[in-house]
Amino acid sequence: MAKKPTGSKQRQTARPGVADETRKPNEEAATDAVVDASSPTEAALVDESANAAASREPIGDDSGKESPPETRKASKARSPRKASARKRTPAPEPGVEVTPEDDSDAPDPTPASLAQAPAASDATKIQDPQETAASHEPDLEASEQAPMAEHPEDASPASMSPELAWETPEESSPSEPAAMEAQPQEPEVEPIQTQEPEPAPEPPLYQAPSRPSLFIVHITPEMASVAKVGGLADVVFGLTRELAIRGNHVETILPKYASMRYDQIYGLHEVYKDLWVPWYQGAIHCTVYFGFVHGRKCFFIEPHSQDNFFNRHGIYGFKDDILRYAFFSRAAMEFLWKSGKHPDIIHCHDWQTALVPVFLYEFYQALGMTHPRVCLTIHNFAHQGVTGNELLNATGLHRPERFFDQTRMGDNRHRNALNMLKGGIVYSNFVTTVSPRYAFETKDQGQGFGLEPTLHAHHIKYGGVVNGIDYDVWNPEIDHHIPVQYGLDSIERKYDDKRALRHRLMLADNEKAIVAFIGRLDPQKGLDLVRHAIFYTLERGAQFVLLGSSPDERINADFWGLKRMLNDSPDCHLEIGFDEDLSHLIYAGADMMLVPSRFEPCGLTQLIALRYGTIPVVRAVGGLADTVFDKDHSQRPLHERNGYVFKDYDNRGLESALGRAIDCYDDFPEHFRELMKNAMRSDYSWNIPGQDYLNIYDYIRDV
Ligand code: ADP
Repeated sequence: MAKKPTGSKQRQTARPGVADETRKPNEEAATDAVVDASSPTEAALVDESANAAASREPIGDDSGKESPPETRKASKARSPRKASARKRTPAPEPGVEVTPEDDSDAPDPTPASLAQAPAASDATKIQDPQETAASHEPDLEASEQAPMAEHPEDASPASMSPELAWETPEESSPSEPAAMEAQPQEPEVEPIQTQEPEPAPEPPLYQAPSRPSLFIVHITPEMASVAKVGGLADVVFGLTRELAIRGNHVETILPKYASMRYDQIYGLHEVYKDLWVPWYQGAIHCTVYFGFVHGRKCFFIEPHSQDNFFNRHGIYGFKDDILRYAFFSRAAMEFLWKSGKHPDIIHCHDWQTALVPVFLYEFYQALGMTHPRVCLTIHNFAHQGVTGNELLNATGLHRPERFFDQTRMGDNRHRNALNMLKGGIVYSNFVTTVSPRYAFETKDQGQGFGLEPTLHAHHIKYGGVVNGIDYDVWNPEIDHHIPVQYGLDSIERKYDDKRALRHRLMLADNEKAIVAFIGRLDPQKGLDLVRHAIFYTLERGAQFVLLGSSPDERINADFWGLKRMLNDSPDCHLEIGFDEDLSHLIYAGADMMLVPSRFEPCGLTQLIALRYGTIPVVRAVGGLADTVFDKDHSQRPLHERNGYVFKDYDNRGLESALGRAIDCYDDFPEHFRELMKNAMRSDYSWNIPGQDYLNIYDYIRDV
């Protein structure tokens, strides 16, 4: 059957007018706050830390009950997420990395209890409370720091603290001696029971302390559905909504890309006309817009200069990406400061916005922004923003001797380079990555792309939280991108979508399994294994569908070559391009989703696939290992097993898992059906990670 290649969907673009409005130094510009180490800025940072530490009473156990240290330790080990009160410990000078050598008193960096230890049993974990502290809060004490679930009903079962649940009833029940004193002093006579005995009084209900509503600002280069390149966009989209649903005030700051999906923004209008952002010796004039993206409050920063930072046809892939995002980070901070916003939490993402905490603590804290605390989420360590001295000149950080220092932003591998992501790790109050396994791999398994020593030095504020997915978007029961909706109770209707997928991609209609791959065509995703899987699948008598694209022309060309080679096959379709709409149909119509990554920080495709009852076949790395449990070999109970997993990155490994999946589909349809149900039952919504992030915020925020 001859098939026509299907073109990829074009994104809508709009190009706002651009004016060159770079100007000379601005008196108000925060750059002016940069002074040398003996300046008031520096002094203020240090003094404030010291004062705060001195003025704050050490806070102990909330309950006021004394318990022997061993008891407290043991109880913490049982409930790693509890942090009923904060104890604070003196921290190093803000931004200063404590190297393992000069930190001989530091706890063992790899205790078994560390959150990022690769325990496959917990999808979401944060660090052991005993280990955790925020380096920029000089008044943190060491003993009681874990983010906790304050609302039992909010908390995941894993985050519920057993002591918390039982403390209150014990404390408030009448004490026995008092009850005895109230007995009448008469001779004992056996009472005659004329009535049913009274039911035992209900134990008093646990009164959940109310969680304060936080003001949280996300600063991000991407957010679905306006500016999406990969999973980061989905994470910001899902997390911001979850945080808002839980009663927090959430705002998001993005660049105003010309290539955004403007049709996804409601009520876009100018809100700040004259934002002058310090840049080199002058400042760049920006306009800030506000609009709603599916109910989310978003600000978009538009610079007007010849640099044309965001007025381009795409999001990434430009020679000046480092300067574009350094500028954006500076502009976002300048906007917060000039508009008088003092969020409790600034949450930034990846290397693109990793300079936000650097700017906060180097410039803006001294200008009065003493309240915000910063959480940095690293979605992928492969990209770090490694650059040279130019960055310091452009951003006003200057002082190479300070920032090239290994304890700050000096790159660990290249002595003469700066590393933006490293700066983010050093300066943030808490650093997360997107799965506990990836946290472990990056720190201890050589997957940190050179940042391993930095993660070790800052391990006490580092942990992994598995991403959620937005079940309003990714849910076969309500998904309007697919022709037939289905759920656990109507799983057979999935096969109508399978037929629709075959029809759309002109595949032969038969009984065969469909194996799919959706993702960026990046070497990270295991492209040689994907290629092998295509031929292996066809050889095993199944069908293969691929949806993917790459900014790298050579990779695209390779896959176009493959597509041409397989164009006549009735059992294979490769769609080279980005097509969100088609991706929904593939998730619904395929039987298996292949994710054979070399490394995978979290991975969303397997999580989405699970929801659609499409069985993931994955390599056991990063978030894939935390979320997919092998049908035949997992230690988990049968009902929690939801896919097929292989370990070694080679063709044999891939065939061992994919072969078993195809065998099960062909020979044991009932078992395959059970696996689909297990997959659909797994909860990878934002509910649990949303709570985990709130716990982290709660722990680092300024109280
Ligand atoms: P990464 O962030 O490394 O790209 P993830 O698995 O975390 O990978 O997220 C990928 C997201 O992007 C998923 O929502 C996936 O469906 C989507 N996606 C990737 N490639 C495409 C494509 N070509 N067309 C449509 N959606 C895609």
